[in-house]
Amino acid sequence: MSLRRLFVFALLLNVVWVVSVMAQEEKPHWSYEAEGETSPSMWGQLSPDYALCGTGKTQSPIDIASTVATDVSDIAFNYASSALTIFNNGHTVQVNYDGGSEIVYNERAFSLAQFHVHHPSEHTLNGEAFPLEVHFVHKDADGNLAVVGVLVKEGAENPAYAEFLANLPTEEGEPTTLDYTVNALEMMPAEKTYYTYSGSLTTPPCSEGVRWLLLTTPIELSAEQIEAVGMLFEHNARPIQSLNARDVLQDTLTHP
Ligand SMILES: [Zn+2]
Repeated sequence: MSLRRLFVFALLLNVVWVVSVMAQEEKPHWSYEAEGETSPSMWGQLSPDYALCGTGKTQSPIDIASTVATDVSDIAFNYASSALTIFNNGHTVQVNYDGGSEIVYNERAFSLAQFHVHHPSEHTLNGEAFPLEVHFVHKDADGNLAVVGVLVKEGAENPAYAEFLANLPTEEGEPTTLDYTVNALEMMPAEKTYYTYSGSLTTPPCSEGVRWLLLTTPIELSAEQIEAVGMLFEHNARPIQSLNARDVLQDTLTHP
C-alpha cells in the first residue's frame, strides 16, 4: 500500500470512528432511576436534543385534578386488528401496530403507530397512581402526535391483553412479528369519555405539542397480568410535571 493510500485509509477509519461516537452521543442513555446522572430530573442536561425535558413548560405526565367539564368532540375509533409485532426497547415493551387503523379527532385523522405500557401509571388522578398505563400513539399526516392513554386498575383478568402479556420480550431487541393478533379497541374501555390537554412525550426528547387524550374510565387487568409487566419494569413512569398555565378539559358525554 502506498503512503498516500495508507493516509486515505487512516483518514476513512477516523471518519468512521468519529461518526460512530457522534451517533452514540446523539442518544445518550437515560433511565427511570430515582437519582443519579441519568434520572428523570437530569434528562434535560444529557443532550441538547433533550433540553425540553428540563425547560419545557407543557410537559407530561401531569396530575389530573381540577378539570373544566365540557362537551367536546368525540374521538372516533376506526381500528382493525394487527399482527403482534413486539419488542423491548429497554424502557418499555412496544407493539408496532399495522397500518390502516386511525382515530379521527376534531376532523383530523391520526393513524395508530404503536402502543406500549408504563408501570405504574404516569398520569395520576387527584394524586392517585394506577398500577399500569397503556399509551396508544397516533400520528397525523403532518407528524403531529395524539396519544390515547388508558389507565389500568387491578381486577378481573382481561383476555384482550392475554397474548400481548404472554409474549413480553424479557431482553432488549429488535421488533419481531409473532403469529398472534391484537385489537387495540378491545384493549380500551367501552366508555370513551376522556381528559384532554396539550403535553409532551414522557420520554426524551420530551417533544411538546402532543395532544393527550386520557380515557376517563380505567380498565381492569388481573394482579398476575399487572405483575407480568412489573417483573420486567419495576418502575418506568416519568414523575408528574408542572401544569403551568394549562387547562385540562374533561369530556363528559359521548354521542351515539
Ligand atoms: Zn408512554
